Amino acid sequence: MPKKTNDKVDVKALSKQLLNDRTHGAQKTSAREMTRASKFAEGYKDFLNQAKTERESVAYAVRAAEEAGFVPFQPGHRYAAGEKVYYNNRGKSICLAVIGKQGASQGVRIAAAHVDNPRVDLKPIPLYEAGELALLKTHYYGGIKKYQWTAIPLSMHGTIVKRDGSEITVCVGEKEGDPQFTITDILPHLGRDQMQKTLGQAFTGEDLNILAGSLPLPGAESGDQLFKLNVMKILNDQYGVVESDLISAEISFTPAFKAVDIGFDRSMIGAYGHDDRVCAYPALEAILQCKTPEHTVVTCFADKEEIGSVGNTGLASEFLNYFVADLAQAEGLEPRRVWSLSSCLSADVTAAYDPTFAHAYEPKNSCYLNRGVGVMKYTGHGGKSGSNDASAEFVAWVRQLFDSEDVLWQIGEIGKVDQGGGGTVALDISRLNADVIDIGVPVLSMHAPFEVVSKLDLYMTYKAIRAYYEAE
Ligand code: MN
Ligand code: MN
Repeated sequence: MPKKTNDKVDVKALSKQLLNDRTHGAQKTSAREMTRASKFAEGYKDFLNQAKTERESVAYAVRAAEEAGFVPFQPGHRYAAGEKVYYNNRGKSICLAVIGKQGASQGVRIAAAHVDNPRVDLKPIPLYEAGELALLKTHYYGGIKKYQWTAIPLSMHGTIVKRDGSEITVCVGEKEGDPQFTITDILPHLGRDQMQKTLGQAFTGEDLNILAGSLPLPGAESGDQLFKLNVMKILNDQYGVVESDLISAEISFTPAFKAVDIGFDRSMIGAYGHDDRVCAYPALEAILQCKTPEHTVVTCFADKEEIGSVGNTGLASEFLNYFVADLAQAEGLEPRRVWSLSSCLSADVTAAYDPTFAHAYEPKNSCYLNRGVGVMKYTGHGGKSGSNDASAEFVAWVRQLFDSEDVLWQIGEIGKVDQGGGGTVALDISRLNADVIDIGVPVLSMHAPFEVVSKLDLYMTYKAIRAYYEAE
């Protein structure tokens, strides 16, 4: 009979040694860190309430940067380690940099987020009247489910440039007591035909008309278009504009909601436009708090990501390339060599696992609320089409960094294979031969007028970017 041995396998110890740790993020986080996360969220909510468009986000960044000692960037000037500069690209995108001890000689460290969000823009000739109401024609921006934008309060944001070049900034519906706006929907009692359509067909782009007034021009006994005229007269009294000035304007309607805590435990934030201001804010805070780093660090707020990063304020343009090239050349370096040594955290949101729509996710490789900043090796759709697909080497460097700096992080992809997908600015930056990886906060109800994120994930994204900026 064989002798019994005592070397039974300790399954628990072996699992701990060999398998991924699946402890919940909150259980791995100290009470002190949880408090820090809640505090950080207060500053973020304030940012959300002040900045709902790319222009407002860039204006916020300029104010915050100047308070922190950043000065407008002068191309050609050689900056010393620790100096802080910003380059405001047309008020719609911005690059901020802190010069490192080694300058750009070993490459720069970039965190890029976008500050445009899905919304509803005015058409060039928006104002009309119908059925004794004044209305505004719109053209939606970015990927929205149109039905979600009806019957909610909206606010107006933007810029009108008059023929003489004078610029008027408008923001109506955000201050206490301001009027707000809405897009009407049909009552269910009369909506039988609408309810039989698919979600995508039930509400069309040309149905997204904004309710702007309901009274005819006071004092006018007869005449045409008195409802339209009344609204135009109010706009003229307030801003000195005429109808044709709306041709050279960028006016967006966004949800008027303020950012609020969600859940009995207050662990989440509900707001409009977390995508991607929930990454932009940590990237801004990280550079504002950055002391003299080893390598020059850059925070970039980009415009137009939601429509393909196009235009001269989107990252498919060369503005970030030129900015880094100017930094390099001022140090006597060849820009393309600097780019080849550079890296970038493409900081953009990812989908959070939603049990109500579990069919769309692969639960083993999804990101979850409160498991920390999401790291995405690749994004894209189909067979990784349109994806940056970070190298194993760079993923290894990033996970080692996050672990050593106590950054709670998780790896994930957006959903089931072939279920859909999405892209980020990672591609535009990898084109310059930098190492790029997608990181960001998991979001519930992404692109809806009211999105949800976790405070812990927000804070961990800030810690992640700070660790990246401060690493040797
Ligand atoms: Mn995004
Ligand atoms: Mn998006």
